[in-house]
Amino acid sequence: MDGLNIVVLVKIVPKPDEVKMNPETNTLDRRDAESIINPPDKNAIETAVALKEIYGGKVTLMSMAPPFIDDFMRLMMAMGADDAIILSDRAFAMADTYPTTMVLAEGIKRLGDVDLVICGVESADGGTGNVPPGLAEWLNYSQATYVEDVDYSEGRFVVKRATTGGHEIISIPKPAVISIELGANSPRFPDFAKKRDLDTDYKVKIWDNKLLNLDPEIIGLSGSKTLVDGMIQGKLRERKHIRLEGSPEEIADKLLEILLD
Ligand SMILES: Cc1cc2nc3c(=O)[nH]c(=O)nc-3n(C[C@H](O)[C@H](O)[C@H](O)COP(=O)(O)OP(=O)(O)OC[C@H]3O[C@@H](n4cnc5c(N)ncnc54)[C@H](O)[C@@H]3O)c2cc1C
Repeated sequence: MDGLNIVVLVKIVPKPDEVKMNPETNTLDRRDAESIINPPDKNAIETAVALKEIYGGKVTLMSMAPPFIDDFMRLMMAMGADDAIILSDRAFAMADTYPTTMVLAEGIKRLGDVDLVICGVESADGGTGNVPPGLAEWLNYSQATYVEDVDYSEGRFVVKRATTGGHEIISIPKPAVISIELGANSPRFPDFAKKRDLDTDYKVKIWDNKLLNLDPEIIGLSGSKTLVDGMIQGKLRERKHIRLEGSPEEIADKLLEILLD
């Protein structure tokens, strides 16, 4: 392929403040929560589409998820991606990050010569940050996490990584997996005319385990290495809704007083 063959991994997550915990089963109750695109995954899509605009190539979105997220996949395609695949099978369900990364790696291998896999830095629900490095291990790709910027030159990706108190610029060979920081760029809005066209003309691909052909014993719940042993609901931060009255100067003085407090 001319240009870069890029895969962006995307996850649809429940809105964090709408998820409840079930202390009896140690599971998250997502039933009443609105689903959203995992926020840094939008930064990952923006990074991929911007690279494609410079170097040419193709951007494929991939998610391991139930098939009902297909409308989200078309919405994300309307940001400039070319193809979308959902890896979906009952055998993949209830997985921790070990079988999740194994299944995602298997899907990526079926896309031929991939140059770059871009993930968000972490999910808003599981939030382990394990998926990008785990995936790089299964694929035997080079990797860089906490990436704020990336460029490509002569078979290598030059990435700017956030470190504690600063940054480092490193160069890694392709193929590579990187994870993009939340806020690394300004994700473009979806093109809604393109979304309408996709809704009528494009069918998101669903790949099941008949296609990936992984042993059911090593994926899903039976392949998971971790067990959730307990959960503690954190306290949600409440807004105070204080209305300041008076002249602009008086409001500014009161605001300063509150902030200093
Ligand atoms: C015992 C056990 C059972 C679990 N059962 C379930 C379950 O039934 N359903 C469930 O949703 N979760 C389940 N989980 C949570 C599951 O481990 C995570 O949803 C998943 O493995 C991803 O990990 P993470 O959310 O920490 O991703 P992170 O590593 O924090 O995510 C980083 C980035 O990786 C990419 N990414 C992460 N997950 C996916 C994905 N699925 N597809 C594509 N890209 C992805 C995204 O780009 C994301 O921004 C279970 C966990 C455990 C321990």
